[in-house]
Amino acid sequence: MELHFSKYTSCIEDSNELLLYHSLTGSLIRIIEEEKINHVRKLINKNSFADDGSEVIKTLKEQGFLFPSDIDETEIAKQLFIDRASCRDSLRLMIYVTNACNFRCVYCPQPHTEEYMDMKTIVDICEAIKKYAVANSTKTVIISWFGGEPLLNTEVIENAMESLSQFCSEHNIILLSGMTTNGYGLTDVVFERLIKLGVNEYQITLDGLSETHDRNRFTRDGKPTWERIWSNLIYMNNTEYKFSVSLRINVNKSNADSAKELIKLKKEKLDERFTLQIQPITNMGGMGNPNSEYCTESEAEDVRIDLYSLLGGMKDEGFRRISRILRPFGLMCNCAKIDYLIIKTDGTICKCELLIDDEHNCIGKIDNSELRLNLARLAQYVAPSFSNECQECKIFPLCYGLYCPHKKSLKYSCGLKHFDLTRNIKMLATGLIKKRQAEV
Ligand code: SF4
Ligand code: SF4
Repeated sequence: MELHFSKYTSCIEDSNELLLYHSLTGSLIRIIEEEKINHVRKLINKNSFADDGSEVIKTLKEQGFLFPSDIDETEIAKQLFIDRASCRDSLRLMIYVTNACNFRCVYCPQPHTEEYMDMKTIVDICEAIKKYAVANSTKTVIISWFGGEPLLNTEVIENAMESLSQFCSEHNIILLSGMTTNGYGLTDVVFERLIKLGVNEYQITLDGLSETHDRNRFTRDGKPTWERIWSNLIYMNNTEYKFSVSLRINVNKSNADSAKELIKLKKEKLDERFTLQIQPITNMGGMGNPNSEYCTESEAEDVRIDLYSLLGGMKDEGFRRISRILRPFGLMCNCAKIDYLIIKTDGTICKCELLIDDEHNCIGKIDNSELRLNLARLAQYVAPSFSNECQECKIFPLCYGLYCPHKKSLKYSCGLKHFDLTRNIKMLATGLIKKRQAEV
């Protein structure tokens, strides 16, 4: 049988090793034996070749890198997307309960207007969720509370969680809930109330140790915030509840060392319910401070490589985030999921979380306890690109042209020209190797 290498294969040669990565499956193989490297080199430059029964070909077939010559893997990639899009048994909502924030972080792109969701609107939203869930036989409802700072409007959150918990348990629906918060208001009392209502996934940001963090993230009247957030985290850590906290570290060149210290402190003081997420500080436009030290795309990659390989060496699973990026759909923005909607404080429904006031982004409204969607507008965000450029692209199965659905909806071309696949593959390989070494 004649075989060919999948066009979604990337081959990287570096100091006596060869890395093979396949974006259709997320497989990554590292070859260090010279003989095998030479064998792969010969095969990869051929349009097709016979199965010689060798160990190399056997492994490549098992890992999904090789296909029979009459199979077009583009069709497999497209079908993968179609299968995923047709699975609609969940509803994911990000609900903005306020635009206000008690922090004034130097790089924040959001305008902080004093808008709060009122009780009537959240009751209407909950009724709309219930109607939608019954009509669509929804199996899972996932709610992320967002702002501004969502803890400035906890009454609305508590009211909704009580109402939805009761409804979901009566209808055998799984309710999952999380929150993106600065962590300042997540005191013992507030955490105890929220966790009992089922809010058990948190994303909280610390930008290094106190001195560095407090330079970036201070209250609106200029006070430091690190000590209080850290003591809230320690309280959570000392409880027995089941929850997860993604500790996000926003990093640029000036706080990279402090970020490393924080990673060590986390390892010492917080258990495995807390994981780390590295986020390079890049200019996202909006209201960010023009004097902030934003990373260029390549500096952002450097920061990621440096810190994720440190995490790999410490057996921390945080670096595995990079492996999520390199799996099918891993580069698609959340907005590209058909069942993912953002609800603003006034009940307007939109898709993109960064451009919530852009008219193209407004795709519906909660109206009379119904989720009313403009399906034509929705399609601009969720339909993939099957253009020739995309189908022939090495990372088509990661992106499907939906890296930034907002730009796509405005007919921009490829939004991932900056994406450095080679560096990302190396970063994953480095993290995996260091993790393995640390386990030995
Ligand atoms: S949008 Fe760009 S990165 Fe994404 S599949 Fe198309 S060509 Fe590739
Ligand atoms: S649609 Fe584009 S701008 Fe909006 S959140 Fe997604 S990637 Fe960001």
